[in-house]
Amino acid sequence: MPVIRDQSIEVLYSAEKIAERNEEIALSVAKASYRDLLVVAILKGSFIFAADLIRAMHQVGLSPEMEFISVSSYGAGTQSSELKLLRNIETDVTGRDVLLIDDILESGKTLAFTRDLLLSRGANAVLLAVLLDKPFRRQIDIKADHVGFECPDVFVVGYGMDKAHAFRELPFVGKITGND
Ligand code: 5GP
Ligand code: MG
Repeated sequence: MPVIRDQSIEVLYSAEKIAERNEEIALSVAKASYRDLLVVAILKGSFIFAADLIRAMHQVGLSPEMEFISVSSYGAGTQSSELKLLRNIETDVTGRDVLLIDDILESGKTLAFTRDLLLSRGANAVLLAVLLDKPFRRQIDIKADHVGFECPDVFVVGYGMDKAHAFRELPFVGKITGND
């Protein structure tokens, strides 16, 4: 088991498995024939997934535009938290198909908030791609159009995802199992 920062990390999804899945997701995006596609990655956790996915999309002949958005929850407690826009995109989404990318779909609040924001600005359609789906924690009825893996109800790190800004550099997704 890899030991990073004195913590043992159990590998749940290896770099190889993720790369394979990214190719499959890129193919499913290509098949969906979105028009005038704008990819929007939700910072920060999705940055590595988004970087790999758009390169996999290039391999299957897609040439989207790419943008970044950042939203954050605020308010007391995770249950009652609301979302606010921290960093906006620069592109007018009117009439466009948008593929919104996030690392994890959990309660659904982040993706629902961001999707609704882009729809309210006149996007033709907002499709959702997530590396991991944690369906057990859903609070909003929302489904992703493209999912890497269905993830058990555990806290994961790596491949862009952090614990207190650490572990993002790991090429795999893993679970911290405790001090080594
Ligand atoms: P929700 O769908 O609940 O609005 O939020 C999903 C967001 O919570 C993800 O984008 C991610 O930032 C964060 N998140 C949820 N589960 C995990 C996890 O297991 N590990 C990490 N690092 N972040 C998580
Ligand atoms: Mg996030």
